[in-house]
This record gives sequence, structure tokens and C-alpha cells, in this order.
Amino acid sequence: MAAATTAEVPPAPALRLGGLTPLTTIDFPGRLAAVFYCQGCPWRCGYCHNPELLDATAPPGLPWERALAFLKSRRGLLDGVVFSGGEPTLQAALPAALAEVRAMGLQTALHTGGMYPGRLAALLPCLDWVGLDIKALPQHYDAITATPGSGGRAWESLEALLAHGTDHECRTTWHAGLFGVDELLALAQALAARGVRRWALQECRAPGAPAWALSEKHRGQLAALFPVFTLRRA
Ligand code: SF4
Repeated sequence: MAAATTAEVPPAPALRLGGLTPLTTIDFPGRLAAVFYCQGCPWRCGYCHNPELLDATAPPGLPWERALAFLKSRRGLLDGVVFSGGEPTLQAALPAALAEVRAMGLQTALHTGGMYPGRLAALLPCLDWVGLDIKALPQHYDAITATPGSGGRAWESLEALLAHGTDHECRTTWHAGLFGVDELLALAQALAARGVRRWALQECRAPGAPAWALSEKHRGQLAALFPVFTLRRA
């Protein structure tokens, strides 16, 4: 029998990146890290801060081999890599990319909207930290993401993350024109009831987003629900 040649097996597609941030001290808590921005996202949030990354078919702005070469040039200076986006879990190449980075002795973090709960659950053993975007209560999601059924998937990802116990933060970017303070309080209560212990509330920076109108009383109510509560102003 003739042996199979490597020419018969097409190489797996590499992770498509739009670019990188060479150093961050805030996106991977406690670590000096680079951020890799993955191309493509299946959702279309009106306030997306990286719209240039949404098209999954766009040519990579940063070839994967160059991203790896960058990491080699920073050996000993970085603790880890954050895979952000866009939506990293969109790409089938993500598990192999995480493995390559870990093989270099670096830790791995993921920023995700949680739209693929099964993929996230499978990735958790390969991740040291996760920033999970929970945009709203499930019933408010579709109007935010322009994608039917998106809320159920994000909250399913939250369940997977909490069940696995990977170190994480839940974060919500609050656009007060999309839901009000009462809904925000209900969201915080729902997250706390599910077992979220670390929540960050981020002000929406999109043009036209209403100015933040959280009273001291409301801030106190939100903060009281979580052992770790962070406000991030625009
Ligand atoms: S999920 Fe994130 S990356 Fe995707 S459209 Fe929404 S804000 Fe942008």
C-alpha cells in the first residue's frame, strides 16, 4: 500500500488576526500580556468598538506566523496572550493557536461574547482567564446583537464558565438607551444569583450613547451584590 504523502493533507487554516497590542497590563489581570485581535464576529451590536474586525472573510491584517514571531521576540518579557476580537471562538483554529502559545510557556486569556457555549466549554481547560461579556438579561439580547437567540447562548456560556471554575470576570457594557436602570439592577441580581463573584460595569463609548446616570444609591446597590465590583467609565 502506498504511504500517504503530506501533500495530500491540506494544512489547517491558521488563526486570522486583525492585529495586536504588544503590551497590556489591564486586559489579563496580574499579567503582562499581548492582545491578539481575532477577525470575525457573528453578531452585529450597534455599539461595537471594533467594527473593522467583524467581517470573517477579510484578509488577515496580521499573519499568524508573524504573531508567533512577535511572541518569540518578546520571550521572557510577557506572561501571556489575550485572544480578543471580534469573536475568537468563531474560528476553528483557536484551540491549536492556544496550544501553540502555551507551548511557548505563556498563559492564555480569552475575551468572548459567549455565542458558542459548547466551544467555550471545550476551550476552558486551555485557558487561564476568561473575560465573558454578558450584555443584558437574555430577553434584551436580540435587540442589542441583531441576532435571534443570542441571549440564551451567552447565558449558557456563563453557566459553563461558572461550572468549570476558570478564573474570570463578567463584564457588561451598559448603553442606557437600550435598557434602563431597573433592568440593569435586575441583570446584576440575576448574575449574582447565578454565582458571579466578579462583575465589571463598563460605560458604553458609542457615539450617541446617553450619558451615564447612575446615582450613588444605584452604585451602592450594584456593588453590594458582588465581592468584586468594578466601574469602568468611558
Ligand atoms: S459581540 Fe462584540 S465584537 Fe461582536 S458585534 Fe458585538 S460588540 Fe462587536
